Amino acid sequence: MNRTDVVDVAIAGAGIIGLSLALELRQRGLSVTVMERGQAMSSASWAAGGMLAVNDPQNPAELMPLCVRSWELYPSYLEIIESLSSLPVPIRTRRTLQEGEPASKSGQDTTATEIAQLAPGLNPAGHSFVWLEEGSVDPNDLRAALPAALLAAGGTLLESAEVLGIESADGGVRVQTERENILAGTFVNCCGAWAGGEPCGGVPVEPIKGHMVNVRCAPDRLRCVVRTPGVYLVPRGDGRVTVGATLEHVGFDEGVREAQVSGLLEAALRLLPEATIPSPIDAWTGLRPGTPDGLPILGPAQRANCWHATGHYRDGILLAPVTARVMAQAMLGETPEVSLAAFSPSRFRSW
Ligand SMILES: Cc1cc2nc3c(=O)[nH]c(=O)nc-3n(C[C@H](O)[C@H](O)[C@H](O)COP(=O)(O)OP(=O)(O)OC[C@H]3O[C@@H](n4cnc5c(N)ncnc54)[C@H](O)[C@@H]3O)c2cc1C
Repeated sequence: MNRTDVVDVAIAGAGIIGLSLALELRQRGLSVTVMERGQAMSSASWAAGGMLAVNDPQNPAELMPLCVRSWELYPSYLEIIESLSSLPVPIRTRRTLQEGEPASKSGQDTTATEIAQLAPGLNPAGHSFVWLEEGSVDPNDLRAALPAALLAAGGTLLESAEVLGIESADGGVRVQTERENILAGTFVNCCGAWAGGEPCGGVPVEPIKGHMVNVRCAPDRLRCVVRTPGVYLVPRGDGRVTVGATLEHVGFDEGVREAQVSGLLEAALRLLPEATIPSPIDAWTGLRPGTPDGLPILGPAQRANCWHATGHYRDGILLAPVTARVMAQAMLGETPEVSLAAFSPSRFRSW
């Protein structure tokens, strides 16, 4: 018979959102268990480009307060993860060349001299860029450090532990997993692209697939992110340049397709002609948690003592620190430092 653990908060999904929230709650003294169907940080949170794209013109305007606050929180967020895990998670780039009008007026016009300094390998012909003060991280660094940080903080992480069912129990929630049962005061659905399905469900989250591929280039030939409407380049500082990304509505299919990878490589080589393609090709995919209005879903669920923190679509790496902060505040009855009105799950209740 399964044994039953008792915790303050049980979180389904060990991506960046579930783990960051768990870490925040641990730091506030709550006992936390994160249950993950596969391995921690192995879905969208690992597949991502890692851009902290506060001013991406494709972001909905309502997202800006969350984006700005999360970027402010990033240094302390990384400091905590690094000190608990003893693993480095550096900000790998600090500037972005953005094509098109940025989401706020913070962009500065580029000069050929500046491009030659930070991106001498770039072929800017036919593109009109502005500079943005934006960072990027390598999700591989977070994949190593974030689960370790949670464990060091005294949190519990159960891997290969799919949440199979939840039911209301006296003053809380009984969570049934593959491995054991958990009696929790509060349950949080952080299941990313799978957050709309059983058993957590009740929110309209749709998987939006993205292909990614790495090319190689001497690190001093590209030292900033380059973002155009069709493709982006994220240099990691060690010769890898991550190229992204497609946006595909194909359900839960995660297979790597040659046509999509070739399209990304062609676009990348037009921007960075001296890049080389490793053999074998280093390509992968991930499923973004998309929502009908492009905004995350943060707040109480219909079932008592249950919450949702999901739907971060293209910005979950950027939004992890602020999501952890405002969710913890809301769950503990405090006023969230960024209003959650636009992100309430109740906006879909007629759905
Ligand atoms: C190709 C691509 C590029 C991206 N680039 C960027 C970027 O540059 N910058 C940025 O900020 N964001 C980016 N994103 C978006 C970002 O990756 C996501 O918004 C973010 O990772 C979502 O985190 P999550 O924790 O909600 O989901 P995930 O990381 O997908 O984690 C959800 C977890 O829940 C688990 N799970 C599901 N169902 C259950 C269950 N029943 N029981 C237990 N566990 C379950 C899954 O196994 C998974 O591990 C990108 C995404 C993709 C796919």
